[in-house]
Amino acid sequence: MTQEELFKKLIAHSKEYGFVFPSSEIYDGLSAVYDYGQNGVELKNNIKRYWWESMTRLHENIVGIDAAIFMHPTTWVASGHVGAFNDPLIDNKDSKKRYRADVLIEDWIQKQEDKINKEVEKARKRFGDSFNEELYRQTNPRVTEITAKKDEVNHRMVEALQQNNLPEIKKIIEDCEIACPISGTRNWTEVRQFNLMFETKLGSVSDEANTIYLRPETAQGIFVNYLNVQKTGRMKIPFGIAQIGKAFRNEIVARQFIFRMREFEQMEMQFFVRPGEEMKWYEYWKEKRMSWHRTMGFGDDKYRFHKHEKLAHYANAASDIEFEFPFGFKEVEGIHSRTDFDLSNHQKHSGKKLQYFDPETGESYVPYVIETSIGLDRTFLLVLSAAYHEEKITKEDGSTDERVVLKIPPALAPVKLAIFPLLKKDGLPEMARKIMDDLKFDFACQYEEKDTIGKRYRRHDAIGTPFCITIDHQTLEDETVTIRYRDTMEQERVPASRLREIMTEKVSITNLLKQI
Ligand code: ATP
Repeated sequence: MTQEELFKKLIAHSKEYGFVFPSSEIYDGLSAVYDYGQNGVELKNNIKRYWWESMTRLHENIVGIDAAIFMHPTTWVASGHVGAFNDPLIDNKDSKKRYRADVLIEDWIQKQEDKINKEVEKARKRFGDSFNEELYRQTNPRVTEITAKKDEVNHRMVEALQQNNLPEIKKIIEDCEIACPISGTRNWTEVRQFNLMFETKLGSVSDEANTIYLRPETAQGIFVNYLNVQKTGRMKIPFGIAQIGKAFRNEIVARQFIFRMREFEQMEMQFFVRPGEEMKWYEYWKEKRMSWHRTMGFGDDKYRFHKHEKLAHYANAASDIEFEFPFGFKEVEGIHSRTDFDLSNHQKHSGKKLQYFDPETGESYVPYVIETSIGLDRTFLLVLSAAYHEEKITKEDGSTDERVVLKIPPALAPVKLAIFPLLKKDGLPEMARKIMDDLKFDFACQYEEKDTIGKRYRRHDAIGTPFCITIDHQTLEDETVTIRYRDTMEQERVPASRLREIMTEKVSITNLLKQI
């Protein structure tokens, strides 16, 4: 199965099993907006909890807030979003399709990297064990030629973006002979800047003064509240404020399912530090956040850091954590050293002092900030794509079958245990209900009595339920039940009275938190 096929299957599976639906689907959906279904919302809530507790419980010096989506419009002038939260866009005149100009160039660069990698692989086969990859990359004329060209284009793009030089971006597209993937032509418009913020009006009088924005990031709600929290919580630097909430961006090209949405959710934490100590904390948070990801157990090689060359207007260092999605390594989280940019600008625009008095040094200063910013929806997609498996299985009678199983970490799974009476008679449903009534206070349980046990297992494999409990005639005699494990499909007979203890150990989020 190609990665593209896998991705298509994942999207179909998400819909079929109640994880993600297109928004307002009966009206043919709304581009890049999605709704979470009955299983999706549970998975999403569990991811949120894993993140929230890793921040607020594991760090005594991090607390949470929940700021409003609407903020005073000057917030976005101070943060730089009104002036600079733009993407360069370009249209193809023949296909009428719109693209992000920088993404077209980045795709071209990626193609050059693919070409280089192909050459390297060919050479590896040719030379066998004696192959020296580094030397080959440095000396092979074709490889060095493509590398030099690619690096030059990258350099020109970074510079043009930094200087907001739109004609130069167009020139790069022309020089690289980039064609529209739909029409195949190079008939492009000029490059224009497009602000990604959604505007709306506050109150009933629609004049300019009432224009407000849907927040494009949650971070600013933290900055404007930092002194409120510091004072009321008697927080001492270094300390952090965490927040989970919706953000909105009018993305030019919305594609790849819930990877790039126009309404999405962020989990952000701003960590306030002494000026001059930011690099130490930047390294600390890079490492901590990577550990949070790896603890989910999808494989360390699925993640990598990507250091930013083109720094955002507020940052003095920035790295992304990238995950290998079916469509390649892509960003899920950003760790940014934001300096005192935001607080200083809010201080300037509001006329209010946002300084912190440091009792240890006896000085007042505007703190520096390290931010960790992760997309909840992207993490959701990460979990689904890493968890999705198609497996061939051999049944007890020797025949073969196939199953789709979501190997979601038990602590994050939407349903923790499914409870099945073997038959719909002989007092088995009553016994199953009794067990469920006892466990439902602690775990998300689902009761199912329809269809064969095999079919019930398949349904729960497909939504990632880690444990299925079957109640049979023996249960009536000795109060034992069978647990069937999702990943190994092994079964084990245990006393029903031990279920709570066994489940607590296996599905508790504490297990994940302890490993970070
Ligand atoms: P990208 O380069 O992919 O547009 P970004 O660098 O603009 O992302 P940030 O502003 O750093 O993203 O936002 C932090 C996180 O929020 C991202 O790592 C991503 O997980 C998430 N995010 C940003 N934009 C979107 C979106 N349109 N849809 C879903 N998640 C998003």
